[in-house]
Amino acid sequence: MALTVIQGADLSSRNTFGMRVSCRRLVEYRSEQELRDYLVDRPSEEPLLHIGGGSNLLFTKDFPGTVLHSCIKFIEPLEAAAGEGSGGCCTPPGENSGLLKKASPDISATPATEEVLLRVGAGVVWDDLCAWCAEKGLWGTENLSLIPGEVGAAAVQNIGAYGREVKDLIVRVECIDLKTGEKVVFDNGDCRYGYRDSAFKNELKGKYAVTAVVLKVTGEYSPELDYGHVREAVIREYGSDEKLTPMMVRKVIIDTRKGKLPEPSEVGSAGSFFRNPYITENQYRTVESVAEREGLGPVPHFPVEGGLVKVPAAWMIDKCGWKGVRRGNAGVWDTQPLVLVNATGKASPDEILGLENEIIASVKNRFGVTLVPEVEHI
Ligand SMILES: Cc1cc2nc3c(=O)[nH]c(=O)nc-3n(C[C@H](O)[C@H](O)[C@H](O)COP(=O)(O)OP(=O)(O)OC[C@H]3O[C@@H](n4cnc5c(N)ncnc54)[C@H](O)[C@@H]3O)c2cc1C
Repeated sequence: MALTVIQGADLSSRNTFGMRVSCRRLVEYRSEQELRDYLVDRPSEEPLLHIGGGSNLLFTKDFPGTVLHSCIKFIEPLEAAAGEGSGGCCTPPGENSGLLKKASPDISATPATEEVLLRVGAGVVWDDLCAWCAEKGLWGTENLSLIPGEVGAAAVQNIGAYGREVKDLIVRVECIDLKTGEKVVFDNGDCRYGYRDSAFKNELKGKYAVTAVVLKVTGEYSPELDYGHVREAVIREYGSDEKLTPMMVRKVIIDTRKGKLPEPSEVGSAGSFFRNPYITENQYRTVESVAEREGLGPVPHFPVEGGLVKVPAAWMIDKCGWKGVRRGNAGVWDTQPLVLVNATGKASPDEILGLENEIIASVKNRFGVTLVPEVEHI
């Protein structure tokens, strides 16, 4: 299969916010070699943006350059990666699981306690990988079920949910240098992972295309139930928190998420719009005194590194009265005020930006804390 190049591509269906924007050119590649071939010939003065599923992006305008997207799709236990021939293009489970099965040895024979290294193409939908692992009885990804997006971006973003972060599963990240076309492999430590953060979002930003990720999952019984109400939900569903399978935990996580977050295919959003602020003790005392004075109840807070305090952005936004508020076609999700939505499907970037600015100003006025967007503005 050849490279797909679409001139003047519409990106509406390429970003979960549903912003109606376009780019000069959309290039989809199916192997490292196809990407290299494109990089050799590309007009070098043009801006380049690599996207995955577009679920953490807010396009603020048309993109005046080339948008790259990986269609490298395979899941293979590492032993099966003969020749490390990345670019083996297999269809994800939802489309044709037969192909994936062919690429993978029978790991149902894996001893129950054994760790398994999986090499996964960057274009695999993250939740397809979670489903695949759960079907095979492999622990590690189940709490991260249903997070939108693709495997390549998961390694860029260090996705996390319900007490698990992908950094704890990642062994190494395979990349192509977008300037030279050379292959570069980053070990976990080189990726400098932090909370929803990595070197790919900082000093390495825009320099590499992630083509494959090697992750470590395990057959050893290891459910993580201690975050939030996960254990309660598991007991409610199964009557016990013992003798679980990854598939059972995955189901509970999916049900929990569906009740809280908008389904991207129904309501446009990019998930949590703002980061949870880490504030100083002094700032925290200000927030606490506002809450006391105005009868807002106890302030949820968590000590974090550097003597700072994390206060959930959702709590502050909620206390400023934003839950369910609409501004034209843009809105704040009614069960999770951290999520801004394209409420009608017709919101323009300016409407989302206007709402974002209003929320930032109101939280600043009331609590003295400046919220910072988590969603990347393009
Ligand atoms: C409803 C909803 C719920 C969400 N819940 C969560 C959650 O619970 N936890 C969480 O952590 N996140 C969550 N998110 C955010 C989002 O799903 C993640 O950040 C996800 O990893 C983004 O993946 P993507 O493929 O859509 O990447 P994109 O949004 O397309 O890109 C994200 C970043 O990765 C870069 N990138 C993408 N692919 C590559 C590649 N192959 N090579 C190099 N760079 C690349 C992009 O340039 C960009 O900087 C949620 C989003 C939505 C819409």
